[in-house]
Amino acid sequence: MPEIRTVAIIGSGPAGLTAAIYTARASLAPLVLEGEPSSTSDQPGGQLMLTTEVENFPGFPEGVMGPDLMMRFREQAQRFGADTRYEKVSRIDLSQRPFKIWVGDADADEPTYLAQSVIIATGAQSLLLELPRERELIGHGVSTCATCDGFFFRGQTVAVVGGGDSAVEEASFLTKFADKVILIHRRDELRASKIMQDRAFANPKIEILWNHQVTEILGDSKLSGVAVRNTVTGEPSTLDVSGLFVAIGHRPNTDLFRDQLDLDPEGYVVTGPGSATSVPGVFASGDVQDPHYKQAITAAGSGCMAAIDAEHWLEANLHD
Ligand code: NAP
Repeated sequence: MPEIRTVAIIGSGPAGLTAAIYTARASLAPLVLEGEPSSTSDQPGGQLMLTTEVENFPGFPEGVMGPDLMMRFREQAQRFGADTRYEKVSRIDLSQRPFKIWVGDADADEPTYLAQSVIIATGAQSLLLELPRERELIGHGVSTCATCDGFFFRGQTVAVVGGGDSAVEEASFLTKFADKVILIHRRDELRASKIMQDRAFANPKIEILWNHQVTEILGDSKLSGVAVRNTVTGEPSTLDVSGLFVAIGHRPNTDLFRDQLDLDPEGYVVTGPGSATSVPGVFASGDVQDPHYKQAITAAGSGCMAAIDAEHWLEANLHD
């Protein structure tokens, strides 16, 4: 028999666990389906589990390690009765209420849970180059977030991979700290908007390495450089950089909801007003619905919004 829950929260990054704190304190006894431990950013705790020191989360003037911060979010949610489970949703049916959620065997006839409302907080993943050692060195020289990690590269030479707005924005931001930023792009023209390109061209600290692709991540416990190859001539070379920022785009974790919720062309859940999705009773918060800000603090804020929206919706609709 499926377990019947009032609120199911899918995801356990800053958005999901903030939604858990708020719904737990509203006596809704939320079920938090945290995901299963893995080495990717859809693991329990989300992308912060792959970072080292977080210095921009308010309330921690001395900084805090990403995994420690998420442990504290989790403990706070549990303190108020959130039922957190290391379970990964394999299928969901949002076509009628109560919503059906499967964990484990997605082909099972009977769902694992029935939920009156659902808060989606499954986050997004930074696309990676998928090179050996890349994931292991995240937090040790490899980064997917200049806003988070740029500060640690003061006075150093770093590289950014990508040619879109994110890469150019990250490269420009990094010049506040690094002495030199090498923007590695696989073609001979940037995809980024004209204004961003002009800003990069005018910045004396940014050097653009056109027609190059990163082929190897160098370093044992810490990044010591990257091997690159010219995409036109095939010529290999190496760059001595202490930081590599991969900025080749993001992918929201919305595969479960495709064809069930309105998604934008990039696959992000469309929300509004507030955290409402296109299905009444289903709310979305954090990076899964935010292609723009993508910060832990904005995700936490939107998790709070989703919890309040769900609470109000349940008050009005639970006894339909
Ligand atoms: P994007 O526009 O999709 O650009 C991705 C870049 O990464 C492209 O230049 C692409 O090269 C390169 N790339 C992709 N896979 C690669 C690989 N395996 N190896 C090497 N390079 C690879 O992604 P984005 O820059 O994250 O931007 C996403 C959206 O957010 C865009 O609509 C953008 O305008 C918007 N955005 C706006 C701002 C802003 O306005 N301030 C800031 C950030 C993002 P190719 O060009 O060769 O395909």
